[in-house]
Amino acid sequence: MVSLSFNNAHSWKYRQIIFRFAMALLVLGSFSASIGCAIGFDTLSNGEKTSDSDREGTDPRNVNTDGLLTIHTTTSIISDWVKVVGGERVVVESLTPAGKDPHTYQPTAQQVARLSNSNLVISIGLSLEGQNISPLLQHSLSRNAIRVELGPQTNPIKLDLHRQSGQHGHRNTYDPHFWLDPSRTTIAIKQIQNSLTSADPEGTDYYSDNASGYIKKLSNIEKSIRSTYESIPSSNRMLVTSHEALGYLEDTYGLQIIGSVIPALSTDAGPTASDLADLIDIIQLTKAPAIFMEEGIQEKVTTQIARDTNTKIIEGLRVEYLNEGETYLQMIQRTAELIHNGLR
Ligand SMILES: [Zn+2]
Repeated sequence: MVSLSFNNAHSWKYRQIIFRFAMALLVLGSFSASIGCAIGFDTLSNGEKTSDSDREGTDPRNVNTDGLLTIHTTTSIISDWVKVVGGERVVVESLTPAGKDPHTYQPTAQQVARLSNSNLVISIGLSLEGQNISPLLQHSLSRNAIRVELGPQTNPIKLDLHRQSGQHGHRNTYDPHFWLDPSRTTIAIKQIQNSLTSADPEGTDYYSDNASGYIKKLSNIEKSIRSTYESIPSSNRMLVTSHEALGYLEDTYGLQIIGSVIPALSTDAGPTASDLADLIDIIQLTKAPAIFMEEGIQEKVTTQIARDTNTKIIEGLRVEYLNEGETYLQMIQRTAELIHNGLR
């Protein structure tokens, strides 16, 4: 008996070593693929040019043959904002296409090649971009690239990862999903306006007009969303979700986050048995009226938890990305209506 368990422990350890070695090879592989352009850019949050962009022989405006400013973003939501502010003066490509989750999407080799030609790259930051995209931002940008991270400038909230186990505590982790609060989106729009203006000063007035028009729309939608959330009976204002995505609704509109199937800010993690047991306990304790299920994320587990706790499932929550043809304004309006209808 003793020798058997020793062998098991031994082979488990051996498998761990093999696993780590394989992971190291994978990481090395993705580094060497992008190492050719792996040096020399700065992270800037206010759209300033790097000194590289002034060097001889480079075009700091980064225009394509049609004279348009070419910009890369990491998510379909940022691309929507850049199209609004940049209008007919820009071409925009998102590393994560419409309909795909930026936490987990793996860009294609062609997308990475185009990224390395782009001199203005706009991301969310705060760890929103997962393990497939973050290394590209570190190692696959052009030497002249101006990199703008929107999230850190939006006064982000800290993530409470322990709420469902009852041990509230703020780790030093920020919640990247700031766009669920339109007033924070306003800050991001101004950053985008500043970045486009420094890359293309001739467009200053144009970008300013576009940004101001959109900021008015954001202010209107903020009022509309607020009244939607406030019409949910106060005893029902409780959210259970697939992952920790809706913290800004708690911070801005007073909806209470009860817990999530994946108690993490990214969808690439998985829940432990104890996470799930804690979640079931707190749903029963609070009598949370519904579980909002995100498409493609732990659907079987979520369905089982709903059965065990006799709670209804509301399908269709999607806040990370836009579908083809959808705008950010439509997405946050739709989210408010979905949550209102699920909790009323
Ligand atoms: Zn998320």
